[in-house]
Amino acid sequence: QTAGRDFTIRELRERGFDAIVLAVGAHRSRDLSIPGVELDGVHKGIEFLLNANLGYRFTIGKQVLVIGGGNVAMDVARSAAREVLKQHRPDAPEPNPASVSAVATHEMVDISLSALRLGAREVSIVCLERRDEMPAAFEEVEQAEAEGIRLRDGLGPARVLGQNGKVVGLETVRTRSVFDASGRFNPTFEDHSESTIQCDTVILAIGQTPRLDFLTPEDCVEISGRGLIVVDRNSLMTTAPGVFAGGDCVFGPRLIIDSVGDGKRIAAAIDRYLTGRERPEPEVEVEILDHHRMLADFMNLDREAVPMLPLDRRTGMTEVEIGYNQISAMREARRCLRCWINTVFEGNETDGSQCILCGGCVDVCPEGCIQLVPLESIEFPPEVVAQIETSRSSFRVELDDVAAHELGIISGAAMLKDETRCIRCGLCAERCPVNVITMEAYSLRCVEAE
Ligand code: SF4
Ligand code: SF4
Repeated sequence: QTAGRDFTIRELRERGFDAIVLAVGAHRSRDLSIPGVELDGVHKGIEFLLNANLGYRFTIGKQVLVIGGGNVAMDVARSAAREVLKQHRPDAPEPNPASVSAVATHEMVDISLSALRLGAREVSIVCLERRDEMPAAFEEVEQAEAEGIRLRDGLGPARVLGQNGKVVGLETVRTRSVFDASGRFNPTFEDHSESTIQCDTVILAIGQTPRLDFLTPEDCVEISGRGLIVVDRNSLMTTAPGVFAGGDCVFGPRLIIDSVGDGKRIAAAIDRYLTGRERPEPEVEVEILDHHRMLADFMNLDREAVPMLPLDRRTGMTEVEIGYNQISAMREARRCLRCWINTVFEGNETDGSQCILCGGCVDVCPEGCIQLVPLESIEFPPEVVAQIETSRSSFRVELDDVAAHELGIISGAAMLKDETRCIRCGLCAERCPVNVITMEAYSLRCVEAE
């Protein structure tokens, strides 16, 4: 059934549904405003993918140009995401550029490969950035090149050329720069650098936006100026009581795991909405592990490459990644960092487990993530000291026999740990002669509501 055509939100309410979730994704391609986009042979990326993936008849030309490139799509997606974060989650960090870039690049590559498998003889990607400026998810582009897709980098689309109403080429201009001095996306182009690429099909892959035409004013669901659903940042409830929304139709295109997270938050919010009760937070259980060790060869295990279909068998809409078999899946699982297990540094003078500054943990750490430094080598501006005093846990600072206001005044030693490099091997805990360091496993246990 299709929302808007087969049912409306009002009808769902009349049929007795007290809570409704809108999770319609972002399935409409954004437009590109250059001359010639109305010509026969110009397609929007998502419409093209839907036709191809649903097996509808779709006539593709022989020479296909996909206009995309991470930054056009990325900028659209990122500014939409920023806008949404500003509106709904002012406390949230900037959208993760790697995540935004991965979504944008995936769209572009997916479209190019689909065009190739539908029978196009030649598929090229036209993008503003030069190869060395391509955003983070470049691996995917390299994979596309291995399948025969050509990357025409450093070019901006100027206009689509036509004859008798049909596409015959794309005029491009050479990019001078993509970013301005402050690092913002602001492309400039070289004068008199026009050139023409012959093609009979142009596919626009410049980002996605939700299709929300099934909503009517009587539904009272507010839509932002960027075409996204407005929600309460805590409950993900829209401006219509009992109607919740999450995923790309609220936050713009992101990775699927972000939407999975929204689903969990919405489920909890609906539970609160329907029962009027707050579920207790899960309890954190901590187990101190004696002699925790990772696998002996853990450090030398290479990533297990995902098996792929041979190039000559990639036709139509076949899945290219075949997936692990039992043996390779188990081999890959051996690389798990077991991130629920962590090092805990906690000295206690009364039971004799106070750091004696032997430096053993520093020496043994294979990743070099622990440092013992003189306290006076660290700068403590007054505002930082004040923040440490009021919110020590958010600074991840443990003070042993030192008051926060003494920082920067007294001498002593500080231990610094770079959590981003720790592989949780447990060697530091093994080495510590006074048990200041322990390896502790955390788990969450659901608590039944009263
Ligand atoms: S667990 Fe291993 S990697 Fe992490 S700090 Fe200790 S020795 Fe270093
Ligand atoms: S091994 Fe233990 S006692 Fe030695 S420096 Fe590290 S934490 Fe301190």
